[in-house]
Order: sequence, then C-alpha cells, then structure tokens
Amino acid sequence: DSVFANIVRAPEDPILGVTVAYNKDTSPNKLNLGVGAYRTEEGKPLVLNVVRRAEQILVNDPSRVKEYLPIVGLAEFNKLSAKLILGADSPAIQENRVTTVQCLSGTGSLRVGGEFLARHYHQLAIYIPQPTWGNHAKIFTLAGLSVKTYRYYDPTTRGLNFQGLLEDLEAAPSGSIVLLHACAHNPTGVDPSLEQWKQIRQLIRSKALLPFFDSAYQGFASGNLDADAQSVRMFVADGGECLVAQSYAKNMGLYGERVGALSVICKTADVASRVESQLKLVIRPMYSNPPIHGASIVATILKDRDMYNEWTIELKRMADRIISMREKLFNAICARGTPGRWSHIFEQIGMFTFTGLNSEQVAFMTKEYHIYMTSDGRISMAGLSSATIPHLADAIHAAVT
Ligand code: PLP
Repeated sequence: DSVFANIVRAPEDPILGVTVAYNKDTSPNKLNLGVGAYRTEEGKPLVLNVVRRAEQILVNDPSRVKEYLPIVGLAEFNKLSAKLILGADSPAIQENRVTTVQCLSGTGSLRVGGEFLARHYHQLAIYIPQPTWGNHAKIFTLAGLSVKTYRYYDPTTRGLNFQGLLEDLEAAPSGSIVLLHACAHNPTGVDPSLEQWKQIRQLIRSKALLPFFDSAYQGFASGNLDADAQSVRMFVADGGECLVAQSYAKNMGLYGERVGALSVICKTADVASRVESQLKLVIRPMYSNPPIHGASIVATILKDRDMYNEWTIELKRMADRIISMREKLFNAICARGTPGRWSHIFEQIGMFTFTGLNSEQVAFMTKEYHIYMTSDGRISMAGLSSATIPHLADAIHAAVT
C-alpha cells in the first residue's frame, strides 16, 4: 500500500480552480472571467511588443550568460523597480534608505516581506482588508504573522466603507502592520480617493502602524504609472517607513516569468543595509536566488527611454480597453432593462468588477450560460470583449430576474 494512502484530497484553489472547471466545459460559448489575466479583443493572451523587442535584444547579446544571480537578484532591476514605484526623484532613493530585492512576482515579494517581518518586527499582527485577494491571508499566516481584518467594502453602496476602515485601524494595536492595495483593489475595484488616502496616512502614522503596500496593478488601473503610484508615494514623502511588493505580471504581461520586487523604505541608509542583510537570510534557504530572464526583460525596458515610452503606450492601451469594456457592459445591461443599480460597473477601478451577484446567481450563470467567475461575483473585465459582452449581459439579466 502507498505510504501516502491516508492523504485527503485538497480542494482546488478558489481562484485558479475556476479555470480548471472552465477547461472541462465543452460548450462553444464558454467564457472564463475568473482569471486575472489580460486578453485581447480576440480573447487571446497578449505578449507586449516591447517585451518581444527586449527578448530579441537579450538573445542576440552574446555577453549574456545563465550564471546565478545574487541572492537579492539583478541589481539594475532592483534600482529601476524602486524608481518606478517611488518616482525617479524620490528623496528616499537618493538618500539610500531603500533596499530592494528581486522576488518571485508579487506573491513571492509578499511572502519574503511577511517572513522578514515575522522574524524581525516587534508586532506580528497584520491587518488585511475585508475582502481582499484570496491569497493574502494564506501568505501571511504561513509567513508566521497573525492575520486580522479591517472593514473595507460596503455591499450596500458597493463602495468604500471609509468609516469602518478608520475605526478598525484606530482600534488596531500600535505598531500593527497594515496591508494596503496601492491601486485597483482586488476583488472590489474600489479605491480610496486621494483625500481619503490622506486621512488613512495620517491615522497610520499617528498610531505608528506599519504600511505594507501590495502593488500588483501599477499603470494598469488608470493607464498612468505615476497616477497609480500616488498612494505609495504619499507614504514615502512623509519620511516614514513602509514596505512595497511590486509585480510585473499584469502591467508588463510577464505573468509566468514570475518577476517582482520587494522594497523596504527605511529611516536611514544604515538601517536599510541591515534590513537587506536579513532579507538575504530569508531568501537563501527558500529558493536561493531568483530567475534571470524576466528581470532582464524588465531592466532592458525600464532603462531605455524609447522602450520605456513604448511600454507606457502599450500599457495605456490595455487599461483603456478594460475601461471601455466597463462602459459597454453597463450599456448592455441598461439596454436589457435589468433591474438594479449597475453604475458600479464603470465606477470601479482596475481589472475586476465586483458585480454584487451572489453565489447562487454565479452558479446559475455557470450552469446555464457557461460563464465562469469566482463565487463572490467578481468578474475580470480584462477577459471580456465586444463579442462576449451580449452573452454576459443576457446571463446577468437572467440571473437577477
Ligand atoms: N496581489 C494582488 C492584489 C493580486 O491581485 C495579485 C494577482 O492576482 C498578486 C498580488 C500577485 O500576483 P503575482 O504573484 O502573479 O505577481
């Protein structure tokens, strides 16, 4: 008999499991709105032209070898990543008080940051928004932190529960870590306004809470890289400390290359260098050092003005297509006279719409219309196209009437 005979079958991942179910469906009309990956109007995955160009440059350069990177990854990539999120003229960078390490996309950056905090920070409580990306609680629990939640979303307004957020952060023990989505909150698509961010910052600083930003969608929300980094930059501008996890999965379409970065913004250069020495001790026994290819693509693009500009144009095109899908879906639902208020479809920000459909309605749409999404009613706007919107609008109409 197998030594593993007693192993129980684990459930599918709630997000990635949607694609597993979708792949089994044989209907020609099936539609996958569960996965957070960009699709073209033709429903195809997209490799950015500037990424292809960068890869050409890399393969044609005979000086490129496949040696190990250092534990902290590609130095040039790390510098450029910090500049991208904090701004090219960031005093924190000029004062050398930022340490950046290349990690395995956003997930790996969050995990390394979490493990570092669990080992070296005095407060183990991390407050994550309710709701949040399904992986957050698992990442930080396994990192050794104690996960708590703060109120974030108000289902009645389909907007921010700002009062609840302030109350919960006010009640958090001093020093607690606070996970913040830099922009394009997943799954709700609801972001604080700039004015609300200012109040959140004041509260966090006055209570000496430690902000940990998750930046998985820089440039992907508004189409503008600087606009989408405003929340983070506000917290760095006040001279205080914070952590930032960056992902290039969405904004450069480098999903499977697993390229991201963790930055720790410290008070002094001396603290930053000691933090980096400890980050290396977290990384070395976990995966030794990060992969070279994706980081080389990113560095090639970020350091060349012409390629950087091409990237921003392609990025804006993706963001604009998603925004236009919001408008089209809203109009299609209005045209059907579907009961309810649907303006949140174009008010929400980023890749996802939190439709407000409940799990029974989602199950109905999957069974009758072969439309796949997470059971919380989150749909990926990036997976929609002009051709598939009527089918989705029909399904939503049937589900709520
Ligand atoms: N954080 C948020 C909020 C996300 O939505 C995602 C991806 O869906 C990630 C982090 C991490 O993604 P990755 O590890 O692919 O960069």
